[in-house]
Amino acid sequence: MKTPIFFLIACLGLAILPNMAPNATHQQLTAQIAAQITATPLRSPTPTVTLTPTLTLTPSLAPTFIATSVPNFISAESALWTPPAPVNRVSGNFLFGRPFAFQHNTYWSREYSYGSTKRGQLQVHHGLDFSNPSGVAVLAVADGVVYYAGPDVGRMFGPRPDFYGILVVIEHPYMYSTGQKIYTLYGHLRQEAVYTGQAVKAGQVIGYVGATGVALGPHLHLEVRVGDPESYDATRNPELWLTPYEGNGVVAGVVRDIYGNKLPGVQLELQAPGNNHLTFSYSGTRVNGDNRLGENFVFADISSGYYYLIVKGADGGLAHRQLLYVWPGQVTFVEVFLMP
Ligand SMILES: [Zn+2]
Repeated sequence: MKTPIFFLIACLGLAILPNMAPNATHQQLTAQIAAQITATPLRSPTPTVTLTPTLTLTPSLAPTFIATSVPNFISAESALWTPPAPVNRVSGNFLFGRPFAFQHNTYWSREYSYGSTKRGQLQVHHGLDFSNPSGVAVLAVADGVVYYAGPDVGRMFGPRPDFYGILVVIEHPYMYSTGQKIYTLYGHLRQEAVYTGQAVKAGQVIGYVGATGVALGPHLHLEVRVGDPESYDATRNPELWLTPYEGNGVVAGVVRDIYGNKLPGVQLELQAPGNNHLTFSYSGTRVNGDNRLGENFVFADISSGYYYLIVKGADGGLAHRQLLYVWPGQVTFVEVFLMP
């Protein structure tokens, strides 16, 4: 009786036979066919193609502080050395490049960071401001499709019409941890260079710096939005998305009272010799921490190394101080509880 296996071998043999000696016996043929069949996998593993990267913000192991790598300025204050507060090293969602070419300013205003009020002078910031002269080309931070390009007069993207002036919103082929889509918004443009529905590549010119809408001078206002591209309440901190430059990392954290409530407007500093940074915890109720991190402050794109994290109390005095390490290309996450 002919089995299906024999039939399979016979079918394969059609393809293999040209390699056989013409005068081979049936047994030799069978042996050679069997040998080739075993040597040649019928099915090779099919790699899984991931078209839409899913963000992973999985906390990894807590860091190990290595005494030998502690710089001198730390050792000199060894009396202040305390066991590090809970710090996690996590991967960032660094999916985006800078919205400007290198010959222009690629850094945002630190004193008006996401969620801050510039010391009470301005309304709570839902994005980052990049100062550059009017007319400088604004680049897409990642591939995507233009969700909207034009003025926000007939269509609301902010708290009121004509808030962003001429803006471009790009939908990116990435999925947030919640399964929602991710968008970037570019506001106050002098002119857009793309049209709604157009596919764009990372680094492509999408418009030009201007001061349209509510803007004090020419700059780019960049936002990251999750889920609803038209909602002013859907923003996240772009500092967690812009890829740090080589050797740089990010500190993100949350500062709470002892009851666990997030404290707004707290002044925080990162201090290392000749390398100090200042920020404020998020204010208001319309800005958001990352869904997984739940941060309310970020220091982004800073040189890797040891820093003191200084947290100021409401009276301006020192409320908390701890040492932490910034890893290149990663996020150091820290949680601080302040006594009343
Ligand atoms: Zn802004």
